[in-house]
Formats: sequence, C-alpha cells, structure tokens
Amino acid sequence: MATIADSDLAFSRIAHPAPTDEAARAAVLANPGFGTNFSDHMVSIDWTEGRGWHDATLGPRQPIALDPAAAVLHYAQEIFEGLKAYRQVDGSIALFRPEANAARFNASAERLAMPALPEAVFVESVRQLVNADRGWFPTLDGGSLYLRPFMIATEAFLGVRPAKQYKFLVIASPAGNYFKSGAPAVSIWVSDYSRAAPGGTGAAKCGGNYAASLVPQGEAIARGHDQVVFLDAVERKWIEELGGMNLYFVFDDGTLLTPALTGTILPGITRDSLLTLAREEGLTVQEGRYSIDQWREDAASGRLVETFACGTAAVVTPVGKVASREGDFTIGSGGPGQLTQKLKNRLVAIQRGEEEDRHGWVTKLA
Ligand SMILES: *Cc1c(COP(=O)(O)O)cnc(C)c1O
Repeated sequence: MATIADSDLAFSRIAHPAPTDEAARAAVLANPGFGTNFSDHMVSIDWTEGRGWHDATLGPRQPIALDPAAAVLHYAQEIFEGLKAYRQVDGSIALFRPEANAARFNASAERLAMPALPEAVFVESVRQLVNADRGWFPTLDGGSLYLRPFMIATEAFLGVRPAKQYKFLVIASPAGNYFKSGAPAVSIWVSDYSRAAPGGTGAAKCGGNYAASLVPQGEAIARGHDQVVFLDAVERKWIEELGGMNLYFVFDDGTLLTPALTGTILPGITRDSLLTLAREEGLTVQEGRYSIDQWREDAASGRLVETFACGTAAVVTPVGKVASREGDFTIGSGGPGQLTQKLKNRLVAIQRGEEEDRHGWVTKLA
C-alpha cells in the first residue's frame, strides 16, 4: 500500500462483519455515560522507520496484537488527544477545532521522540471515523461523540531509544451531557504531589502524566473532594492546573486570569477558546501566575469571585471549594458563578452551531 503524504489520503476500508445490533446501540445511546461504551469502528495507521506512515485503514474496532516487548508497554512511549464531534442544531455533524488537536498531537509527538503525523491526515482520520459511526451520536440532548486519537510505540525492543515502529489509532465513545442544568461546583484538593516539573513532559498530552496523577487524584477522592489541583514543582506555591483541566480565576473588577503556559501546563484548546471569547466579552484577560496564598486571601476578601476549570470532556466546571493542609476556603457563594455560566453557554452554543462561528472553529462534516 502507498505511503501517505499530506496530499494522498488513501484509506482502505474493511466492512464490519457484525456491527452492534440496533437494540443494544439504542440502549447505549440513551444512557452513554463517559468512556465506557465504544462505537463500531476505528482508524489505524502504521509508521515504520524508512517507510513513514502507511496502511491507513478504517475498519471494525477490535483488539490489537502487540508483541510483549513492544516499547509502549515498557517505557510508556504514548501520546493521545481528546476532541468531540457535535450534532448541530441544523442536524449536521461538526468537529470543534480539530486542526488545533492535530498541531498539539505533533507537539506531544516531538517531546516523546515519536514521528509527526501530517495534520491533514490526523483530521481526515477523525472525519473518516465520525462518518462511519454517524449512528453513534447519543440521542439525549447535549450528547456528543468523544474521539480519542492516540499513538503507541509498537516495536519489540527493550533497549532504551525511540522505537522504529508506531501505530496511530482513533476510537470513538458516545458521551452524555455533562452540563444539564448548570454543572454543580466541584470541591478540589491542593496536592502535595507534583504533576510536572520544568523540563519535564507537562505540556505534552502523554499517558505517563496521567499514570503519575492517579495517586494524587485518589487522595483527593479519599478526602472527600472531586478533583486534585497541582502547584508548581519548584516553589510549591503557583497554581498550575487540575489533573486534566486548566483553571481560570475571575475577579470582582471583571478581569480574568489563567496560569501562563510555562512548559509545565498543558495548552488546553478549551482554555485557548475561552481566552478569545472572554476578550470578545470585553473582559481583561491575563495569562500570568497566581499563588495559593493569594487565592485564599482574595477568596476571603471577595476580590476573587469565581474560579472554574475547563477542558473538552466537561467544557467548563465551576470550582466551589478548595481544601489544603493549610485549611479550606470557599469561592464566592460556593456555587456556579455567573461569568462561568455565561462563558460556558457561549462556547457550547458555538460548538452546537447555535451561535455564529466567527473564528473558523467549527468544521462541518460533508
Ligand atoms: C487535555 C488536557 C487539558 C484540557 O485540554 P482541552 O484541549 O481543553 O481538552 C488540560 N490539562 C491536561 C493535563 C490535559 O491533559
């Protein structure tokens, strides 16, 4: 089969011998939850040193065979992305900023010593899968199809060096509505663990970062909180982000602050989209740093009025309570704030085609 260049997207198609039956699919789509149910198809593309990307296939979702010595299983050479396809109010299907995910995927690939995937191939892979699984959109209001592109090192080799073989895959999972009538505010625990250090992999979307976050996240849950918030690894005072979401702080004078992308923070596409929307709203938005002590002080004085977390999966989540070894404090009234709700509504409206897309963020599928 031909090697794939930007201009040559030759996907072979393998028909699914036994797609999920109608009744089982309908049951899933009425109550999809998150991340536990999957569509019928997947995309797979292989990379081999000297040959590049080849054998692009859209076929049945099925287990993949890996040699027990495959590098990903030993040294965690793995990266991933997360994006959603949304049903538009006009009935069509659209992706939200898929080229931003493609660019970030390549930035992650570079940090993990993996080959770049042409951005057009990334986007086309996602399109092909969504087209094949059009029947997998949740029937409930606000549902979406969550897409998980990822790359693993498949070469069987136990020496420590970048692998010479990789597999890129895309799978899809119907996702329920995270935001029925206003998401409840979450309670977060300030962790003693670090997520990312200067010079580390904090800005890359790699599985290893998540493996390291499971114990801190578990500790937050054990203490009765919903999420963990990480401070910087050097001074242990600057607020960085949650386990898988970026943070925004809203002040009483209408300014917004989000931690700057210093290399230890994952550059969220939701974060970036909200920067633009907030500026459109006439708000002053700053990328900077904010300390845990200042946060506590400003919450007490009333200067800080809202805090929210943002990411593709839950879009925008209000933070109501912060707990740490130094004590707890409440943000605003402890419930969802007005600006949080307003920004979320605007972003969701654009994603669903209810509001004009002035930034070229929405890619409709033919
Ligand atoms: C994926 C991710 C985010 C959010 O990014 P989005 O592009 O907005 O979904 C934030 N933090 C971490 C650690 C992430 O992995």
